[in-house]
Amino acid sequence: MSGAETAQNEQVFSSNLLQGKKALVLGVANKRSIAWAIAQTLSRHGAQLAFTYQGDRIKDSVEKLVTTLPKKSPLFPCDVTKPEDIKNLYDGVRAEFGTLNYLVHCIAFAKKEDLEGRIIDTSREGYLMAHEVSAYSLLTVAKGAEPLMEKEGGSIVALTYLGSEKVVQNYNVMGMAKASLESGVRYLAHELGPKNIRVNGVSAGPVNTLAARGISGFTKMLDFHRQKAALCRNVEVEEVANTAFFLLSPLGSGITGEIIYVDAGYRIMGM
Ligand code: NAP
Repeated sequence: MSGAETAQNEQVFSSNLLQGKKALVLGVANKRSIAWAIAQTLSRHGAQLAFTYQGDRIKDSVEKLVTTLPKKSPLFPCDVTKPEDIKNLYDGVRAEFGTLNYLVHCIAFAKKEDLEGRIIDTSREGYLMAHEVSAYSLLTVAKGAEPLMEKEGGSIVALTYLGSEKVVQNYNVMGMAKASLESGVRYLAHELGPKNIRVNGVSAGPVNTLAARGISGFTKMLDFHRQKAALCRNVEVEEVANTAFFLLSPLGSGITGEIIYVDAGYRIMGM
């Protein structure tokens, strides 16, 4: 069975496991977004969802996607660099849902010029921006979610990439930001554990999305990954989504502070 067939078969799998559960998904830009694949999976398992969009530029397209889901999903504007947006977001989620069970963080940004060339040339501004949007935001959105998760416990998943721990050409400052994000996953897991809030990361192999296409040489990255991965293929976005679902759901109840690799076995390979 090919990778695509495996993923397709898994995609049709649905259940009532998340019935009555509320999830907030950050980072849907379009139908290719990893956040959208996760949202569809959570919805197929019964969850009710809320979404954010960064600015008016993509409001209409996110709205169109969201209305294809069976349950009505509130949509909030949120630029994670704006504290007032985060406050308004959680005021809105509290008003709509009362409680929150799951939080999905699929947000990253670095300036185009910082995703090519020499890392040594990264500007201070570019460094700070990549870290603020891609790593610090996990702390701020987790802080907003904490009081809404306290009653029933909760689960948080953030998306990351191998460039945090290995050198991947052109990933540059985003690798440093992902290292910070992954460390944040562990510190948050420790801090929120007593409140039965779990925090994990999903480290996905390369997936063809808007953000990924901003990395110089991304197509070559896909080819290289396919050749080297133990499963001899790239990862399907549905496989990433299924792992996020597993970690968020009661199936992952004993797991916190971990980074799970969904990379078709790329990371384990040496020579
Ligand atoms: P994507 O569809 O482009 O999603 C990235 C999202 O981040 C977009 O919705 C973008 O909104 C949002 N964002 C950027 N700056 C923001 C800000 N200041 N405030 C709020 N939202 C902001 O790309 P994706 O590949 O699915 O990325 C999702 C996550 O997966 C990221 O953390 C990425 O690093 C991670 N990941 C991706 C891959 C891959 O190969 N694609 C592999 C491993 C991990 P706008 O479009 O409006 O800017």
